[in-house]
Amino acid sequence: MSSTMVGKKGYNSKKKSYTYVGQLQSDYVLLKTVPNFKFCGAKKFEYEPPGFCCNNGSIKLVSHEMPAELQNLYLGTTEECKHFRTYIRKYNNMFAFTSLGVNYDNELAKRNRGIYIFRVQGKMYHFINDLLPPSGRAKNLQLYFYDNDNELANIMACSEKMHESIVKKLMNILRINPYSIFLKSLIDVPNISNYNIALKYDSGLDQRVYNLPTTSEVAGIWVEKETTEVSYAPHIRIYTHSNRSQIVNYYYGCYDPLQYPLLFPYGQSGWNCDIKKIIQPKDTSKRRAFCEHEELLSIRNMYFVDGYLDMKAQNLEKGKRKRDNISVREYYCYKFQMREDETNETLHSRRLFQQYSVDEHIKLETQRLDFF
Ligand SMILES: [Zn+2]
Repeated sequence: MSSTMVGKKGYNSKKKSYTYVGQLQSDYVLLKTVPNFKFCGAKKFEYEPPGFCCNNGSIKLVSHEMPAELQNLYLGTTEECKHFRTYIRKYNNMFAFTSLGVNYDNELAKRNRGIYIFRVQGKMYHFINDLLPPSGRAKNLQLYFYDNDNELANIMACSEKMHESIVKKLMNILRINPYSIFLKSLIDVPNISNYNIALKYDSGLDQRVYNLPTTSEVAGIWVEKETTEVSYAPHIRIYTHSNRSQIVNYYYGCYDPLQYPLLFPYGQSGWNCDIKKIIQPKDTSKRRAFCEHEELLSIRNMYFVDGYLDMKAQNLEKGKRKRDNISVREYYCYKFQMREDETNETLHSRRLFQQYSVDEHIKLETQRLDFF
């Protein structure tokens, strides 16, 4: 078919003049090639505002890390890689630790029906469910913990569209994921319901330098009377049988890695409100980027979640006055750029990228409503 038709089903095509691709081609305007941005190396379109990508050098975050095998699935040209990218939302949402609560347009999101669109109404929620399925099939974080011997069969039972070879590959890739390691380690714990099991809000790592979280930085387990470091840290409690879902708030650093394990295979944090900007000297002729002393919140010294949230609120207030913390918009503007010296697999994740960017946009709007 040589034409692109965009119209509602049942629309009288005789009355509608459709635009043909052939007609468009003689009429386009070519944008000039412009140099990469001097501070962060982002590729630019002509007329794109200069500071959009990194706020004129005041934002610097580390490149995204991806294991080679997963990188190959994103960039490879084999049938297997193509299949993976076609059904990537299915694969990701299967391996996700949190479940998605969202009102999205299923008709638009269906395959093979024109342009794929991910449209959401209202908010998007991420939920942590019980460790054990109330009845029937395990899903999300339960898959990592429940019935380890039949892990592959349990995952395959969730959708007939998935290929066993890819599922096996992804299971193998995610063995390095700290959340996966943690949940699998719980299988060997006898009388698990006697323990407190928790995921930390944030790994507390500085995202401006290269580091990846370890299992103890993202999660913990302890008995009630025990006083461990994890029990002080602000956390989301995982219950074995509570029959209720808990919301993972959008401002937790673990919000992104729990829902998008195929984009954050190492459990790297997403945005949180404590990431600092680089302070630029006033005199632009001597402009040289340097980092202010890192002031991440210490999760060791906090005894109550309320205290932590108060500190977050104070930091946000401070951020409002001084604007020295990176906002949601600035963070994802930086992350979604193409740069010469790095491969950003996120941009190759097709339908998952649509879901992810819609999710982050809702995060941005929610933050604006909450704090500004
Ligand atoms: Zn930039």
